[in-house]
Amino acid sequence: MPDHSPIPFGQPIITDADRQAVMEVLDGTILTHGPKCQDFEETFASFMGGGISVTTSSCTASLHLYYLYLGIGAGDEVILPAISHVATAHAIEITNAKPIFVDCSIDTGTLDPDLLEQAITDRTKAICVVHFNGIPADMTRIMAVASKHALPVLEDAATALGARWQGKHVGLFGDGAGFSFYPAKHITSGEGGMFCSRHKSAADAIRELRAFSYDRTLNERKLPGIYDVKGLGLNYRMSELQAALGASQIRRVGDFLKARKENFLHYKELLERQVGFRLLESISADGEDSHYCLTVFLDSDMAGHRNDLLERFKDEGIGTSVHYPHPLPRLKYYREKYGYDAALYPCSAAIADGSLNLPTAPHVDRADVEYICQTAIRLFGEVKK
Ligand SMILES: *Cc1c(COP(=O)(O)O)cnc(C)c1O
Repeated sequence: MPDHSPIPFGQPIITDADRQAVMEVLDGTILTHGPKCQDFEETFASFMGGGISVTTSSCTASLHLYYLYLGIGAGDEVILPAISHVATAHAIEITNAKPIFVDCSIDTGTLDPDLLEQAITDRTKAICVVHFNGIPADMTRIMAVASKHALPVLEDAATALGARWQGKHVGLFGDGAGFSFYPAKHITSGEGGMFCSRHKSAADAIRELRAFSYDRTLNERKLPGIYDVKGLGLNYRMSELQAALGASQIRRVGDFLKARKENFLHYKELLERQVGFRLLESISADGEDSHYCLTVFLDSDMAGHRNDLLERFKDEGIGTSVHYPHPLPRLKYYREKYGYDAALYPCSAAIADGSLNLPTAPHVDRADVEYICQTAIRLFGEVKK
């Protein structure tokens, strides 16, 4: 039995202020279409330092809505990195467009800009980049290729709240961006997402598409129940209960980010002299990570022990996670539909098969990091024997 209480990989920090914010909604009369979503959107945009924010039901919904807005469909192609959460690919696939997977950089897990241009065809309609585990993609080089080909860029920033490139928050480089408030992410609303854009036209369109493409919102209707529908919108709204929690959480995001960064740096210091792995982080001075987790990327001679290590960490009560268990094109659905050519995605596969993530979130304190590092060093030694 481990001599330490279990440390989960992710655990939201819910305070009395959070509870009070949600109770206030329950004690009122407005559960959706209300002021809490607006408050969350405005507070979020001000943290971002620009752009327009629109609450949605999830990051996946935000990505899907943007493709709907672009009118992407059958016969179109969208480029995305081969390593990400399946949501990044499914949001394209659900429109009937074809996902075109591009390998990542081995140093950061983000889309390799050297491989981007050769993936563009006359069917390409958009480029999706992912800020992998909160490490910003090289937005300078990606935007240069995108603008040369006049292609819109969507940023999957699900794990990148607080990440910056050249001092500017990610999500403000491309034409649209999605953030996630799933419980393990930087802040939570239970489930939920935010669509962000520099373009008012895109934000306005997403606002309509997330609510059935009504031609007027509930509050704009002169007669109750009288509206028209302009397009094929969905119900991808966030509720007031979720927005109240999200709005309360975003007000503490500075503390959350500080705790994650301190944990990350402490891990780095304690693991610096260890061999057998390296830690993924920005390699460019332009990048400022959001320290979503500590990505331990095992050396190739250690990679075969990854699942053994996951099991040993589990037995010790230490939460880990894997981002992600397969390169996207190797997932059953994509493999069977499009075939899988392993030669195309060596870096994505190496990260999927040879990395594991340790917790940096604010529920982890300095002593926990020390305990996790001591245990990790012991476990790495044990599996090597
Ligand atoms: C979590 C995650 C998503 C999905 O977010 P939801 O809000 O759960 O839809 C998408 N992309 C990445 C990179 C993620 O980590």
